[in-house]
Amino acid sequence: MFTPTDIKKLNAVKSPDSLVSLYFNTDQGLQTKEKILTSAKDLLKEVADTLPTNLQQKVLDYLDKELKQEIKGLAFFIDPAGEPWQQYEFRVPVRQGIYQEKNLHLTQLEELLDEYERYCTVVLDKEKAQIFTVFLGEIEDVTDVFNEFPGKHAQGGWSQKRFQGHIKDHEQRHLKEVAIKAYDFFQQDGFDRLIIAGSQEILPVFKETLHADLQSRLAGEFATELFQSTEHFLQESLKVAERIEREKEAELVKELGDNLGAGNKAVSGIRDTLQAVNDKKIMKLVLADGFTQSGYNCPSCGLLGLEADECGCQGESNKVADLIDEMVQAAIAQGAKIEFVKDSKELEDLGSVGAFLRY
Ligand SMILES: [Zn+2]
Repeated sequence: MFTPTDIKKLNAVKSPDSLVSLYFNTDQGLQTKEKILTSAKDLLKEVADTLPTNLQQKVLDYLDKELKQEIKGLAFFIDPAGEPWQQYEFRVPVRQGIYQEKNLHLTQLEELLDEYERYCTVVLDKEKAQIFTVFLGEIEDVTDVFNEFPGKHAQGGWSQKRFQGHIKDHEQRHLKEVAIKAYDFFQQDGFDRLIIAGSQEILPVFKETLHADLQSRLAGEFATELFQSTEHFLQESLKVAERIEREKEAELVKELGDNLGAGNKAVSGIRDTLQAVNDKKIMKLVLADGFTQSGYNCPSCGLLGLEADECGCQGESNKVADLIDEMVQAAIAQGAKIEFVKDSKELEDLGSVGAFLRY
């Protein structure tokens, strides 16, 4: 799993010569493998002087043959004179770009750490528990299953009358211990949100046991059992994260609406957004999921338009059935982020599409 420590390590890499940092958006939900390769070839042209042909080919071979379906973002860090490369795969997209500098270019990675929330998932039953961390679509164990033998703890002492009768003393102690472990982990890791999972019976009691700082970070819960697979815990945690994501989308659409016209920080509607795409001004493209539109693409200048020959070039524009797809490709190529928003009446009212602009 990618962590701030990785950034520190990469940050320490220096070279008297140019280092090459490559970022590819490899989301195959947005673009075909062929388009990913074509756009990679175009990007690599920019570093053709620095990056030997065999290393360029190695990058392309990787994209062609090794790229997994679930990988939406790739980063390559290459010292053309030294170590061949370092590489990171992400289950979330990264902003596409290519850089040759004396340091590695790490802005995109910092953005990932900044933009995505770290979740802690605590799975427990009356006697055992396990803590996981979920970040960038991946899950990692923080602890092994612990408190497997609560009987060995000394009896007596801690108890709380407000707990219901069916939760026994040793179970209460166990819950308290789990809550303390979760809080210790929070202080060490600083995760953003907490998910709790277990039986319907135990979760309300466990919630009560949590430190106030964790109660306020509670994102959701799911019913499960400790013997389930880690992959299952990941998928259930991602469902909770998805709900939170919907809330953030709603905020994004509101922000889009608030910034329209205000110093031209944002545009909405297909016509203005296309204009901004053609002007290469897109910082973040916001699209209603499933929104479709046909249009035209000029083969000479690459302009996208709703009508044919908007640019006035010689020759005919090509009709494109999926103009939105072309917009997305063009926005990715200019290093924009793409945000799809599900079921938003508010975005529909803004024309189902909009964008935040670079300038
Ligand atoms: Zn044209």
